[in-house]
Parts: sequence; C-alpha cells; structure tokens
Amino acid sequence: MNTPVPEYLADLLRNCKAFEGGQLATYIPELASADPNKLAVALTTLDGIIYTAGDDEYEFSIQSISKAFAYAFVIEELGSTVVKEKVGVEPSGEAFNEISLDQTEERAKPKNPMINSGAITVHSLIPKTTRADRAETIRQFFSKLAGRDLSFDLSIYESEKDTAFRNLSIGYSLRNLDVLESDPVEIVESYIKQCSINVTVKDLANMTSVLVNDGVLPTTGERILSRQTVRQVLTVMTTCGMYNAAGNWLANVGIPAKSGVSGGIIGVLPGQVGLAVFAPKLDQYGNSVRGIDIMQQMSNDMGLHLLEGIPSSRAIINDQDIKEVEADVKVYKLHGVLQFSEAERLLRKLQEEKRGSNSIVFDLSHISLVNNVGRRMLLDGIDRLRADGHRVALIDPEQILPNAKTNLDFEPKIYHEIQEISKEKA
Ligand code: GLN
Repeated sequence: MNTPVPEYLADLLRNCKAFEGGQLATYIPELASADPNKLAVALTTLDGIIYTAGDDEYEFSIQSISKAFAYAFVIEELGSTVVKEKVGVEPSGEAFNEISLDQTEERAKPKNPMINSGAITVHSLIPKTTRADRAETIRQFFSKLAGRDLSFDLSIYESEKDTAFRNLSIGYSLRNLDVLESDPVEIVESYIKQCSINVTVKDLANMTSVLVNDGVLPTTGERILSRQTVRQVLTVMTTCGMYNAAGNWLANVGIPAKSGVSGGIIGVLPGQVGLAVFAPKLDQYGNSVRGIDIMQQMSNDMGLHLLEGIPSSRAIINDQDIKEVEADVKVYKLHGVLQFSEAERLLRKLQEEKRGSNSIVFDLSHISLVNNVGRRMLLDGIDRLRADGHRVALIDPEQILPNAKTNLDFEPKIYHEIQEISKEKA
C-alpha cells in the first residue's frame, strides 16, 4: 500500500493552478524577475517525515519567514524577558514595513517581531562572535533546523541592500530612540542578509518541525528550543504572522503562520503538522495568493483549524458507565478525551461517593486521549477518594496513569476478576 499523502498534495497544486491573481513583489528589484509559475508544497509530520509536491527543489529567499526563527533564536539565547523588553507582542494591524512603535510604554519599542521594525531589532540582539557576524550566526542556526547547509542569495541581498531606503529609515528611527544600540546601517544590512538565505519548501518544512515537535528536532532528537520559546514564537505567529491580514488568516486557515515577500508561507499546528508552500505572486498584504489558497484547502481537508480543538466527548462518564459489579465494588468506565473540562466533570461526579471503605475501580481502557491536566486531576481524585477511606484500583492497559500502577489498592487477582466482570456486564 502507498500512503495517499503525496497524491493529495499533488492534487492540491493541480487544482490551485487555476487560481490566478496577485503580483510579484517589485520593491526588491531582483524579486520582480522571479518565475511567477513556480509552485510547491511540503508537509512535515510530528516525527519529521516530509511529503512534498511541485517545485520542491526550487530555492527562493526566505525573507520574512526568517523573522519567526530569528525570534526563536534570540529568546533561546537571551531569555524572553530581555527580548520582550525590546520588542512587544501586539499585532500592529499595519503593513509589514510600517515603523509601528508602541509608544504607550515607558520606552518606545516595535510592536511585534514579525514586522520589519521588530525583526530588525530582534536581529540586532543576535550575539556577534569573533568568528561569525549576526547573519552568519543565524545562517548556521537555520541550517541546523533545515538539516543541510543553507546559503545566502547574494544577488537578492545586494539588490535589496541597494534599495533599502525604507528599512534604513526604520533603522535610523530605531537608533534615534535607542531601540537599536549600534550602527543602524550595519544592522539593517545584516538583517537583509538574513532575509536572503535560500531555502526550498522542504527546508522550510524541516525548519517548522522543531516548532511542531515542542522544540525538539525530530530527525536528531536534539532539543533546540525550550517549550516556552516555542509557545512564544507560535503566539506571535498566530497574532502577527500574516501582518494586517492576520485576522482573516486566523478565521479562514486558523494555524500559526508566517509569510515572506518572495512567496513562501509556513504554518505550524503544534503536535500535528508543519506546512510550507511557495508561489511568488502576492496579494495587497504581501502574502502569497496561491499559498493562502493551498493552506486554506489543507486546513479544511485535514481539520487543522486551531479553534476546532480536540473534539471532546464531553461525557467522560455517564450514569450507565458506573456499575456496582459486586457489593461494595463500583466500576467507573471512562471513555473519550480526558482534559480539564472532562476531568472536572468526573471529579464532580465523584463528589457523590460518600466517605467509606467501599472499593472503586477506574476502567481507563476506553480513554482515547489524555493531557497533563486531565492526568493530574484524575490522580488527585484518586488521592482524595483514598483519603476518604476508599480502596481504588485501575484497569489501565494503555498506561494512562503509569505512576499510579505501582500503587494499587487491589490484589492483582481481584483486579483481574473485576476486569472480567466489568467486561461481562458491559
Ligand atoms: N527583506 C524584506 C524586507 O525587509 C522582507 C519582507 C517580507 O518578506 N515581508 O522588506
């Protein structure tokens, strides 16, 4: 059997070819000569398998997608408190190249790291070493995430540098306000170099996999980013990643994302998939027209919208799932998802258990998904039942509560019998 995923991706591209519209970016002269028909998509799974279709070997400059990863890098290096003092996390609602300073605080600072003023400031925070300047340090970091040695596109770099009047004026303003602490020209030029790093959609998918996988690179098992860093990066991607189209994006696609002016977009659904698309023609916000279309399709087809959430069974326990299998032995057969709301419902139900020495069995074999909060609350419920004098045991073939297993109140024989009785009565 072959997995249908590659065919699915190829179909997506075929269908979206009919999707016309948009313009090439022209303010970087070299981007205006891009081939508008290039089209590629890549998807990474939680365990780092990459599926691709279209022009998946085609290299393009990473541009603003770099902002998300540079932000991750400096938070990891300096800690989020230091970085948040310099750059805010408020969506600007303005174009990517607005200066967008938050003046409400004691010290002016760029509103967020996904617009140019914030990204230039973030770039200035990359530590320089004797062996590598900031752009080189970030190139090495991106290469590690991509799993191969990435290179600068020097013609893109030169082309943008020669016409960088807008970014230079942002740089000077930031320097004037002491947000930048050294030569703004050097920082802006180095930021432009960061934007010129060449990637393919495959590289981008690899780079997203560290965000999908909670900060650990799935291909090597190495922890690159802390959990908190990943959460911080995904937060600003959600609120600011698509500039002043972020609201529409969240409504229609609903995953943390970042776009770039060369036509790339990445999307990350933590714990599930990372997505990367490339198609050079842009809408008025500077986001890839076909890229948005493909992302929207994938989100619909795969049910990726963040706010759809994990379908909760709501009824972790119904009255008919509570059975007296013997005098003084009650079995609670739990089923479905166990997160906060279901655990709260269960603990509320357990309040009906009067103090006493009867025995309670939780059958966890039908729980489809449990998170840390659900696990902790169930363990707490068990402790409280015990404190009330009950004996508690678990039927837990999937090791939902692995730590509790060594601490059962029942003899294994009785435990086994109860399992049988519970099955018979089901
Ligand atoms: N290098 C570009 C700039 O700073 C990146 C912008 C973008 O991709 N939106 O203007």
